Amino acid sequence: MEYKDLGVVPVVSAQANSTPLGGCTLSDGVILAMGNAARFHVDLDQLWRAAGSFLAEVTGSEDACPVTGAAAGMAIAVAACVAGTDALRVQRLPDPADRPNEIVLQKGHSISYGGAPITQMIALGGGRTVEAGAVNETLRSHVASAVSRRTAALVYVTSYTHAVHKKEVSLDELVAIGREHGVPVIVDAAGESDLRRWVASGADLVIYSGPKMLGAPTSGFICGGSELVAACRAQYAGIARPMKVGKENLLGLLQAVREYAAVPEEERAAAQRVRMTKLAARLDRLPGLSARVTQDDSGRMIYRVLLTVDPASAGRSAASLAEEMATGIPSIHLRDFKVHLGQLEVDPRALTPDGEEAVVRRLKEMLLDQSGARADVGAAR
Ligand SMILES: *Cc1c(COP(=O)(O)O)cnc(C)c1O
Repeated sequence: MEYKDLGVVPVVSAQANSTPLGGCTLSDGVILAMGNAARFHVDLDQLWRAAGSFLAEVTGSEDACPVTGAAAGMAIAVAACVAGTDALRVQRLPDPADRPNEIVLQKGHSISYGGAPITQMIALGGGRTVEAGAVNETLRSHVASAVSRRTAALVYVTSYTHAVHKKEVSLDELVAIGREHGVPVIVDAAGESDLRRWVASGADLVIYSGPKMLGAPTSGFICGGSELVAACRAQYAGIARPMKVGKENLLGLLQAVREYAAVPEEERAAAQRVRMTKLAARLDRLPGLSARVTQDDSGRMIYRVLLTVDPASAGRSAASLAEEMATGIPSIHLRDFKVHLGQLEVDPRALTPDGEEAVVRRLKEMLLDQSGARADVGAAR
């Protein structure tokens, strides 16, 4: 069975890896690891422990627990903080019974993932979210005063694109508050590229998504201290049962992490910057567009092509251009976080060389076709 047998159109992702576009594409090594894993039976308990040791080593933590994704990771991490390893408490979730179950979250971190609120994942794990502060400002005193005997954990969301980090309580401060009150800190590091930084911050549990940055199939993991990670694993006899990770995806995750960790971030970023510089030069010649390479606003080592659309000479706004790109075949998805400024971005992280050609081809068709703007057709290559 293939996508085309189902009439499903091909998609080019110029907006990085995202769940609605099918996560990421996998390397040959990852596909091979998954295929090989699928051929044999295995003692899952043994496999899980070995996987935990491998991921712990890579992340500099004591232990790790595989999950189906970061959203599942949040539900499971909260469940671990509420119920621990006690079988009866685990089976009773999401009812926390007499256990502390309040989860303190800065209001600016109360995000949703494609519509699914983080507070719902917290509830699934038996937690009750207590939001501290305001969307645009949360002070240490807001968080500290929200912590009580009923608090089970503090949650911090790293995401630069979704969470508000201006005037927030930093992770260091949050870890200090957690220590002071004997309450664990959970970090949602779903789309982060650094495998060691968040664990090194002193957080108790750190959650990663497999497809976002790591090149893994639908999967993720929670890493941290051995006691809490054991409590995460215990949830597979409870609320995590409908979120179980198969052996194929687990081996795919481990192979992807191994490949990812083997390439220094600077090297990956430098290669992407070279690619994007060449692409920008090609696109900058098209009528109605100016294209240049920009670094990620939050200072991460991500280099994108920033396209500024001049509606008069492009014959359409940035928003309609993005829409037309997405409704064609292949369906091309540009990053549209700056569309309100008349700008679109090409993100290199999920973009294959074929995808890159498709972006150039489509933009040429659209922009050279209209208003008789024939200038430099050949040169626009
Ligand atoms: C994408 C994302 C998630 C959800 O990750 P999945 O692996 O798709 O479940 C959670 N938190 C943040 C910050 C994200 O960016």
